[in-house]
Amino acid sequence: MERSEETINAMLRTSYTESGISEPVFRLGEEVLSTLKERFDRIDRIAEINQLKVLSAMRKNRVSEGHFQATTGYGYNDLGRDTLESVYADTFHTEDALVRMQITCGTHALNLALSANLRPGDHLLSPVGSPYDTLEEVIGIRESEGSLAEYGVTYSQVELTPEGAFDYDAIRAAIRPETKMATIQRSCGYSSRKTFSPAEIGELIAFLKSVKPDIICMVDNCYGEFTDTVEPSDFGADMIVGSLIKNPGGGLAPAGGYICGTHACVERVAKRLTSPGLGREVGANLGINPAFYQGFFLAPTVTASAEKGAIFAAAMYEKLGFRVHPAAAADRFDIIQSVELGSAEALKAFCLGIQAAAPVDSYLTPEPWDMPGYDDPVIMAAGAFVSGSSIELSADGPLRPPYAVFFQGGITWQHAKFGILMSVQKLVDAGAAVVVR
Ligand SMILES: *Cc1c(COP(=O)(O)O)cnc(C)c1O
Repeated sequence: MERSEETINAMLRTSYTESGISEPVFRLGEEVLSTLKERFDRIDRIAEINQLKVLSAMRKNRVSEGHFQATTGYGYNDLGRDTLESVYADTFHTEDALVRMQITCGTHALNLALSANLRPGDHLLSPVGSPYDTLEEVIGIRESEGSLAEYGVTYSQVELTPEGAFDYDAIRAAIRPETKMATIQRSCGYSSRKTFSPAEIGELIAFLKSVKPDIICMVDNCYGEFTDTVEPSDFGADMIVGSLIKNPGGGLAPAGGYICGTHACVERVAKRLTSPGLGREVGANLGINPAFYQGFFLAPTVTASAEKGAIFAAAMYEKLGFRVHPAAAADRFDIIQSVELGSAEALKAFCLGIQAAAPVDSYLTPEPWDMPGYDDPVIMAAGAFVSGSSIELSADGPLRPPYAVFFQGGITWQHAKFGILMSVQKLVDAGAAVVVR
């Protein structure tokens, strides 16, 4: 029997109250949600375009059941692995791709892309200010064993203008004859700058190449994939790099990373990942292919869910009077949302809420810890099926003022919504936010 809309709404409210969300918090959520319909529609249309993009690549490459076979040992003639790489390359419109479980994380993928394409004496430039925290040790900005600096690669960065734009004059001045590569981070990461759109990154790349045509432009694409209808590789990036436990893994990939780009760049990366002489020919898939394929197939809609969660969080916390970044109404080119919570207590309460809403480890209380590669203690909430996965609903933040939490993920929009409501609930319970409805 069909139930009226009223009955469904009443059941929804009851489901939330039975799950620990008070009536006022639930009502605030519904009120905020009613303002976001158009945004969510647009996100769904972008997901549709990206779904077709992925499907076209899978159909063109005639993906079949045979591609899901496990290989072991050296992994020679791994047709499933090689075809997946063609699917990635066709989706992101690049000549070539390397997509491997042997790439352990995003930092590893970035380290490979850099170290494979730089040689002693070369100069690496970041024209977008500081890179992601973990790259500081890769590059040698913070002294670290095995860094690029130890191998004689020099580095400099050009800060963004106070308005957050590219400082073209300073960038031109920073490019030297030995400037071999530029590293361009798309997402804001743990900083308060804005995330760049693929088109903006395209302008920067065009400028860099107008000054020095042979400069290799690598884009750290982490968290950006599928948030737009285009990627930086559509705008001249020589390599785009990311992690499979973020957007492109669709929540199913249990590990891995990718580098998509020009044939020459990707070949060098393959030789660095395995060995000169072996390159891409080795690397058994150990049975991971179904998760990689199906995850990539799901990635456009999973990314859309996460993006809806980010926008909902921004709108909720704006309404509660917190500073959020980006603003709820801003255009988005990644899935990260930060909220300045103002105190360690509020940061812990937020993370407790995300944790309490999780499908896994919901009964745990997140505590700050000294995470390898990061400067300050970090608190993390993650009740994920894949350990450390941040396409799954997760939150983290360094314990330093302004106590900003970085919130991302949500394999389903419904879970993201519940997590955000729970975070608000825990703030209310801790006396760090007031909701009267
Ligand atoms: C996550 C991330 C990285 C590093 O990836 P890990 O998988 O955590 O090593 C690098 N850059 C950006 C922008 C990221 O978001």
